[in-house]
Amino acid sequence: MAKLFGSSGVRGLANVDLTPQLACKVGLAVATYAKAKKAVVARDTRVSGSMLEDALVSGLLSSGTEVLLAGIVPTPALAYATKAFGADAGFMLTASHNPPQYNGIKVFNCDSLSYTDEDQNAVEKNVREGTFALADWRSLGKTTPIDASQVYMEMALKAVALKRQWRVVVDPGCGATFNVAPAMLKAMGCKVTALNAHPDGYFPARKSEPTAESLKDLANVVKTLGADVGIAFDGDGDRVAFVDERGSFVNFDRSLAAYAAYALKRSGGGTVVTNVEASMCVETMAQAQGGKVIRTKVGDIYISEVIKQSDAVFGGEPCGAWVHPRHHYCPDGPLSAALFLKALEDEGKSVSEFVGAVPEYITLRENIACKNELKHKAVAKIGATLKTAFPDYTDFSTVDGVRLALKNGWLLVRASGTEPLIRLTVEGESLAVANDITEKATALIKKQVEAEMK
Ligand code: MG
Repeated sequence: MAKLFGSSGVRGLANVDLTPQLACKVGLAVATYAKAKKAVVARDTRVSGSMLEDALVSGLLSSGTEVLLAGIVPTPALAYATKAFGADAGFMLTASHNPPQYNGIKVFNCDSLSYTDEDQNAVEKNVREGTFALADWRSLGKTTPIDASQVYMEMALKAVALKRQWRVVVDPGCGATFNVAPAMLKAMGCKVTALNAHPDGYFPARKSEPTAESLKDLANVVKTLGADVGIAFDGDGDRVAFVDERGSFVNFDRSLAAYAAYALKRSGGGTVVTNVEASMCVETMAQAQGGKVIRTKVGDIYISEVIKQSDAVFGGEPCGAWVHPRHHYCPDGPLSAALFLKALEDEGKSVSEFVGAVPEYITLRENIACKNELKHKAVAKIGATLKTAFPDYTDFSTVDGVRLALKNGWLLVRASGTEPLIRLTVEGESLAVANDITEKATALIKKQVEAEMK
């Protein structure tokens, strides 16, 4: 049987993989595992949200858990409310940036941290074995509606005070930030134009994943209105993307690196956390502020975990999931947008100037065919070969695949999660450097794959 939980909780096609039966069991299993007395439940705008919510809530009530219903709010608002309302667990029904036919369940603990692999494995075991703690009929749970948006907005308004009236175009893409994000930016004094700010679980306006392609309308509106910035979120609002004042989509790695440098400057150094796939411009920018970078596996859950362990000042992934540990541990799109404006204000820069301080490196990707049953073995063995082939490497890590940092670039070799492929990612200071590393590494990986097949 396939694993139930991935790096972002349970995820799958609604009513095919993720059925009401399963949602009910997840509710029961988490309540049993967390010995939950109180839980918060929220959802994004997906069509299947209400069906799955009812089933999940039913499982929680049957275990005797008091359920606070937050309705449609962004994932970070749910995570923050879990902490603010003193709940033992928080549930977000969302498939994040995936197409509308998908849905999922993300689980958070009382400290706004996403469930770790260990938590998820324990819950998964409960689901499989059906070992649920059912309550006596006199102790069944009750539901109470709450205004999670209000509590979340209060936190954000306390965290960010803007002086300037920023001209902002905001694009929630019909997702969970549809009302909170424009309202928050307005409350902070921004002049807000909102696009696609009505809830619609079919995501008719654009793909829920913010990319240069899906944010073309936003870019055009920013340019036409002569606005200062364009801001977009994914379906559940834990990711943020920016368009600069010229209407150009801002590269995710560069906005992450620019903000990381700002966060380090504000705190007088410290640690920032990112994943193995992020550009080395994060190190370039962090080191210039006397800061240190820790790299984790891909998945925001790992970023949040390491931020907490290392007492880091900031962390994020180059998909726009940014974590601000002073406020809570869930990646937070709307709060990131507000803090980004504050950073521009403090630095006296436009978006293009702020991000323009970050060096642009060259990234190349290569897929090498390899049978599913051999790909993990091949990746595990490639590390030693690569170290010999690149003897001047500055860092070697197997936290996720094999990553070798070099003086003027880096390379990452990972087995594809779903396809019969080994993926090579290379970054270099220049195209020539990136090409050199790619050629050399590709040849070595191909040789390793051939050796495995013998
Ligand atoms: Mg998301």
